Amino acid sequence: MSAGQKPVIVVSKCLGFAVCRYNGVPLEAEYMQELAQFVDLIPVCPEVEIGLPVPRDPIWVIQTDEGKRLVQPTTKRDLTDLMVGFAERFAADLEYVDGFILKSRSPSCGISDCKLFNKPSLDRQIGVTSGFFAAKVMERFPGCAFISEKGMLDPKARQEFLQQVFESARKRAVNSME
Ligand code: SF4
Repeated sequence: MSAGQKPVIVVSKCLGFAVCRYNGVPLEAEYMQELAQFVDLIPVCPEVEIGLPVPRDPIWVIQTDEGKRLVQPTTKRDLTDLMVGFAERFAADLEYVDGFILKSRSPSCGISDCKLFNKPSLDRQIGVTSGFFAAKVMERFPGCAFISEKGMLDPKARQEFLQQVFESARKRAVNSME
């Protein structure tokens, strides 16, 4: 990845780049094509990257005595370490990034609105939280701009996000000339 003049934005791959959601249902994000003229987009699907198929049984974020875990109840798999490991490698490989557009409500990509369930029965939502991939990249890039695909449909939120992204890229370009 090179330090071009364009902003670099990581996007959830299911937002118009691939059919990779758990239920195999495609999503459209028409603004992505327009955005791609002005920024470099890096699509990623963390769940596919850790080896899950499409379609797949849903995965959930649950609260345990040892903290939050990412699990697939039907297979009883605990995917926490796989996902955290992938997110850490992905973040470490990102030489430059100015923003993230992430799918809302996802246990992997949700910025802050993923359902959090209680462990014993998985039938009771006890709150909302960040998805595991989103939490890791937000921790790694605290000054970055983050928005969901829903936020991109809100003119004010979209404008603020893009202003932050282009300002970040501008600073990066200035710093590279010093
Ligand atoms: S929300 Fe994230 S993990 Fe889920 S399908 Fe989209 S890109 Fe993949």
